Amino acid sequence: MSKNDHSIQISEIFEEDLVGEQVSLRGWVYRKRSSGNLVFLIVRDGTGMIQTVIHKDNVSEKTFEEGDRISIESSLKMSGVVREDKRAPEGYEISVNDLEIVGLAKPFPITKDQSTSFLLDQRHLWLRSRKLRTIMIIRNQVFVAAREWFKKGGWIEVQAPMFVSAACEGGATLFELNYFENQKAYLTQSSQLYLEALIQAFEKVFTIAPSFRAEKSRTRRHLTEFWHLEVEAAWSDLENIVKVQEELVSYIAQKVSKRMANELKFLGRDPEAIYQVIPPFERVSYDDAIEILQEKKIDVQWGDDLGTIEEKTLTMDYDKPIFIYNYPKQIKAFYHYPDPERPEIVKCDDMLAPEGYGEIIGGGQRIHDLDVLLQRLDEEGLNIEDYQWYIDLRRYGTIPHSGFGLGIERLIAWICKLDHIRDACAFPRTTTRLYP
Ligand code: ATP
Ligand code: MG
Repeated sequence: MSKNDHSIQISEIFEEDLVGEQVSLRGWVYRKRSSGNLVFLIVRDGTGMIQTVIHKDNVSEKTFEEGDRISIESSLKMSGVVREDKRAPEGYEISVNDLEIVGLAKPFPITKDQSTSFLLDQRHLWLRSRKLRTIMIIRNQVFVAAREWFKKGGWIEVQAPMFVSAACEGGATLFELNYFENQKAYLTQSSQLYLEALIQAFEKVFTIAPSFRAEKSRTRRHLTEFWHLEVEAAWSDLENIVKVQEELVSYIAQKVSKRMANELKFLGRDPEAIYQVIPPFERVSYDDAIEILQEKKIDVQWGDDLGTIEEKTLTMDYDKPIFIYNYPKQIKAFYHYPDPERPEIVKCDDMLAPEGYGEIIGGGQRIHDLDVLLQRLDEEGLNIEDYQWYIDLRRYGTIPHSGFGLGIERLIAWICKLDHIRDACAFPRTTTRLYP
């Protein structure tokens, strides 16, 4: 490489005027085409792709040979001159004058028309595909935008343990493991109970962490390990926390729509559809939801949980998410606050995304009264000893409080209009997949 090279990342070619300049870059071969004296390489780096051309007459014999033998997904260093070229896919091209192969790739296993399960086995390589790179860069923006929103509002980011000693969301989906001296531990299903302790120190907290659920149902929206954005707020009732949910989701949607417009379009999602996700979102009580469903001839009774079909039917007429609130006590976890006027329901909400994506948030007000909590633990047949620290929070300075959990991959699947939740993360974990 010559000493005066301007070392760049590919995105700089589109952002700055580098036409006529000698540049050097590092990357991987995305596509290759040769004809006689010419080798065309589409080169990819962490920021973008550019067409490069090696002309036999412009380079040393050795450089041309390297260009001729380089294979798809080989890593390389190259330098050349930036040219404007209307025929190149991005409008620019690099006329190569030097090339060095760093890692010559074996024949790349991923070619056209391969089965989903093959591609999942090759996930570590498939992540280089345009589709997955696009989703992952949008995913990054979801994290960035969420943290921005919390920062503006003065929320504190906290972390809870992943090894826990008791269930948060019921025993059926717990992953159990051995934890020294024959002690049992579980992988956390939610950080919520710990956030409830932390709000008594910080009032407004959030965490973004994995949650683990041994979901036996194989659906397009369940992973066994997912990223969970959880929020807990002191001095907050159901209506307060519902507002937090719609503002947060709207902020993320708008920022992603603006910053990732081209990426969304590439995935077949109209950025405008996401941009118009602005509060208020429709609020429908569970009671009304059951009536609406019955009118639409769905076979459901008061007291039933809402599944995929029910959620799809309820959101059919909306192009923004909606809230369903105040569910029956018997279908919700023990910590939800029973309505003092109607003890058969709890003050909670689910946010349902449109287009059949369904639940992306579960939230609500928590029980802050000691006796009510003890009674609910008892009704659910839970072992009080396992929850002593959690019960303590009602013994020492209890406060009304609320919170929620948002499934990051569910949010991304909806924003990116994905067919399956597994494509919303790099290395999905499902009932049948633990590799790579
Ligand atoms: P569902 O009824 O859809 O299984 P849930 O009611 O069990 O979800 P919550 O306990 O309310 O889920 O968890 C909060 C949020 O976490 C959900 O709204 C969803 O976005 C996400 N979530 C829950 N389970 C999963 C999972 N197995 N895979 C991906 N995301 C999940
Ligand atoms: Mg839920």
